[in-house]
Amino acid sequence: MKSPRLPIALQQSVMRALRNKLQLANQRLERDYPEPKLVYQQRGTAAGTAWLQNWEIRLNPVLLLENQQAFIDEVVPHELAHLLVWKHFGRVAPHGKEWKWMMEQILDVPAQRTHQFEVSSVRSRTFPYRCGCQQHQLSVRRHNRVLRGESEYRCLHCGDILKAGDFLNS
Ligand SMILES: [Zn+2]
Ligand SMILES: [Zn+2]
Repeated sequence: MKSPRLPIALQQSVMRALRNKLQLANQRLERDYPEPKLVYQQRGTAAGTAWLQNWEIRLNPVLLLENQQAFIDEVVPHELAHLLVWKHFGRVAPHGKEWKWMMEQILDVPAQRTHQFEVSSVRSRTFPYRCGCQQHQLSVRRHNRVLRGESEYRCLHCGDILKAGDFLNS
């Protein structure tokens, strides 16, 4: 699927939201966590993913275009919270009490695990899988190999075997 061209103004709004929330977090946590890298390469039905070791947030450009305010209000803080939790607490449950605390007490955002986006425009070609640390997209071919019991796939970051999931957001 080809990525749409994102208007500069939209990218700037997303970046501003990220910086505002990071600044708030750094004040309240009394830390100086660096700005994560923001890329617009997320595919499939996931709104975004947080790449812990890379200190990177990947946003889905198709869903971003269709849900601009929701991305700024929810998705950006959601993924930022995953990065901050990892730096602050180490490896803990992805949407556990530390993440909830980070969202609500530090970032001032209601902690919702998933987003209700219309995903018909991006549904197809890939299937969402999960490991202990993030969401993955498997191709139809790989997905079918898993269903037939011919293969299993592991996360390169945490080493977990990938399990099929139906998450709109990680
Ligand atoms: Zn993993
Ligand atoms: Zn999440």
